[in-house]
Amino acid sequence: MGGQFSQLFSPLKVGSVELRNRLIMGSMHTGLEEGNLEKLTHFYEERARGGVGLIVTGGFAPNRTGWLVPFSGKLTSAAEVQKHKNMTTRVHQAGAKIILQILHAGRYSYHPLAVAPSAIKAPISKFRPWALSEKRIFSTIKDFVRCAELAKQAGYDGVEVMGSEGYLINQFLAEKTNRRKDRWGGSVEKRRRFPIEIIRQMRERVGPDFIIMYRISMLDLVTQGSTIDESLQLAKELQVEGVSIFNTGIGWHEARVPTIATSVPRGAFSWVTQKLKQSVQVPVVVVNRINTPELAEEILQQGWADLISMARPWLADAEFANKAQSGRADEINTCIACNQGCLDLIFKNQRATCLVNPRACYETEMPIVQTKVIKKIAVVGAGPSGLAFAITAAERGHQVTVFEAQAEIGGQFNFAKKIPGKEEFFESLRYFKKQLGLKKIHLELNKRVTAIELQQKNFDEVIVATGALPRKLTLPGFDSERVVSYADVLSQKIEVGPRVAIIGAGGIGFDVAIYLLHASKGSYAANSTSDFLQRWGVSQNENVAGSLQAKKIVPPQRQIFMLQRKSGKLGANLGKTTGWIHRAELQDSGVEMYDSVTYQKWDEQGLHILVNEKSRVLAVDHVVICAGQVTTSSMADELAKLEQNFHIIGGAFEASELDAKKAILQGTQLALKI
Ligand code: NAP
Ligand code: SF4
Repeated sequence: MGGQFSQLFSPLKVGSVELRNRLIMGSMHTGLEEGNLEKLTHFYEERARGGVGLIVTGGFAPNRTGWLVPFSGKLTSAAEVQKHKNMTTRVHQAGAKIILQILHAGRYSYHPLAVAPSAIKAPISKFRPWALSEKRIFSTIKDFVRCAELAKQAGYDGVEVMGSEGYLINQFLAEKTNRRKDRWGGSVEKRRRFPIEIIRQMRERVGPDFIIMYRISMLDLVTQGSTIDESLQLAKELQVEGVSIFNTGIGWHEARVPTIATSVPRGAFSWVTQKLKQSVQVPVVVVNRINTPELAEEILQQGWADLISMARPWLADAEFANKAQSGRADEINTCIACNQGCLDLIFKNQRATCLVNPRACYETEMPIVQTKVIKKIAVVGAGPSGLAFAITAAERGHQVTVFEAQAEIGGQFNFAKKIPGKEEFFESLRYFKKQLGLKKIHLELNKRVTAIELQQKNFDEVIVATGALPRKLTLPGFDSERVVSYADVLSQKIEVGPRVAIIGAGGIGFDVAIYLLHASKGSYAANSTSDFLQRWGVSQNENVAGSLQAKKIVPPQRQIFMLQRKSGKLGANLGKTTGWIHRAELQDSGVEMYDSVTYQKWDEQGLHILVNEKSRVLAVDHVVICAGQVTTSSMADELAKLEQNFHIIGGAFEASELDAKKAILQGTQLALKI
C-alpha cells in the first residue's frame, strides 16, 4: 500500500489503537474550538475523509487558569463531554483516530488569572502570572488527569499533553521561568517533577490502552532554557511513567528564532527528533516545516521518526493523504508556510483559514456545489485570483477559458518565488498548473485578449483578473534609468548596483531588500539547514542551555537604505508572526531604515530626501520603487460599453489592497456563486 510512500502508509499499533498510516494532523488552534463544535467537527471530518491517520485537536485547557484567552476551549466537566462525543464519533466513522490536546498556557495565558511556577512575566504577555502555591500545583495536576479522563469518556483515542512551546509544563522545566526553592524547583530533577507527576497519575487513571502523547520541548531556543540532554533525560523518565508517543516541540513562543516560517528550510529540525528516537523505545513524531509526502517518506526511511506531524498542510489540502497514497502527490495544494491565512489571524483572535485554500475552516459556509446551469466563462489574467476562480468554477462544472498575456501563469507569484526563503511559491504554481489540466480549463498563454474578441466569442461571463501594476513616482529625475520598479528588479531586467535605496517598506519592499541582500547577478545560495541554524544561532550541542549560540551572519551583497514616509517602525504592517523575522534579517545585515521621509529628487549625486525635515543625499547606484500598486486595465470599461457581463477580482478590483490571500478568496467566492 502507498506505492512510492510505503513507510508513510504503513499502519502503526499504539497500545490497542491502530493508526492507519503515519500521518498526524498536529494540534492547531483554529478559532472553532468554542461553542457547539459543529464547524470544528466538519473541519476534522473533511481531513479524516482525506486520509489522515491521527488528528490532534487544538488545545483545550484543563482548568480556567490555563485558558489561553478568556473563555477559550476547555474540557473540565462531564457536561462538556457530549459535544466532544459527536466529534469523535464522526471522525472515527471517517476512518481516523483523534486525540485531545490538553494545554495549560501558564504565563502565556492572556488574562489576569494566569499562573506559573514563578511570578515572572512573559515578554509576549502583558499579564504577570501568579506563582502557584503547592496546593494549587497538586490541584492543577489533578485537573490535567481529570481532563484526560473526560477525554476518554468523550471517545477520544488519547490525549496529547502539551509540554513544549513555553507553556506551563515547559515553564516548570526551565530555570528561566522556575525559580522555586521547594520540591518543584531548584534543581533539574525537581523541575521535572511536575510533568512526571502528571503522566504518572494520568496513566494510573486512564488505563494502559489510552494513548498519552507527550509533546516534549527538544529545543527551547530561549536563554536559560533546557539543554537537549536534559530533555532526553526527561523523555526517558516520562517513558517509564507511561507515555505512549513522544511528539517533538521546537522553540518557545517567545523565542526569536523562526521555527515554522517559510524561510525555515524544510525539515530543518528533524535532526533533533532523531536524537529523541535514539533515546526512547516508544514511537516518536517529527514536526516543523514538513509539507510534502516525499520529505515525510524520506524522514521515515532514514529511521529518524515513526510518525509525521503536519498542521498547516492540512489547512492547505484536506486530501493530502489520499492524494499521496493514490499516486497523485503532484495534485497536493502545498502549504507555503506564509502564516498569512492561519496564524496571523489566530493571533488577532480571528478564525484561521488558509491563503491557498480559503475553504479551510469555512467548510460549512463554502460548500462546492455542482452548477445546474453550465456557463461559458472567460478569465482574463492567470494570476492568483484568476486561477483560483478558474479552478473552482471548473470544479463546479462550468466551461472555463483563461487568457494570459505573459508566457507563464502565476502573475505576482512569479516574483514571490524569486525571493530567498519564499521558494514554496513554486509549489503553488505547480498546483495551479496541474489543476488547470485536471479540470480541463482551456489556457491561452501569450494572449492579450481584447474586449471585442471576448464579446465575439460569446462568453456568458467574463472575469477581469488583470492584476495591478507597480506605482510609478513622478518626482524630478525619476525618469532616470537608475530609478526602477520592483518588477524590473525581480524580473531581472536590470542589474542593481552595490548601493540601493528602497522606497516603500511594505511586504514587497521587505521582499526586495531580502532579495538584494542575497542576490548576486540574479542568483543566491540555497538555504541549507546548517546555514539556517548558524544564521539564527541554533546550537546542535546537547549541553547548551536553550540550544542557543551566537548568530553567524553572511555578509550582505549590498548596502541598502529602506525608506517610508510615515513615522514609526518600518514593516509595522507585516504579518504578526513573520514581520519580526524580516525586520531581524534586515537589521542583522546592516540595512539602514528611515521613517518620516520626504522624497525630493534624483540626480547624479543620488537620492535627495528629507528625514524629519533634515536634508540628506543617499549616494546610491539605484532607487527601487516599492510604493504599492495601481490598476491600469481599461478592460472593465470596454466590456461595460459592449454590454458584456463581467466581474472584476483581485488587484484589478482593488490595487491598493493587493494581497494574495484576498485575491484567492475573492476568486474562490465568486466561483462558488456564479
Ligand atoms: P504596501 O504594503 O501597501 O506598501 C507600500 C509602501 O509604499 C508603504 O511602505 C508606503 O509607505 C509606500 N507608499 C505608498 N504610496 C506611496 C507613494 N505615493 N509614494 C511613496 N511611497 C508610497 O504594498 P506592497 O509592499 O506593494 O505589498 C502589496 C501587498 O502584498 C500587501 O498587501 C502586502 O501585505 C502583500 N505582501 C505581503 C508580503 C508578506 O511577506 N507578508 C510580501 C509581499 C507582499 P508610506 O506611505 O509610509 O511611504
Ligand atoms: Fe500554510 Fe499559509 Fe495556508 Fe497557513 S495560510 S496553512 S501557512 S499556506
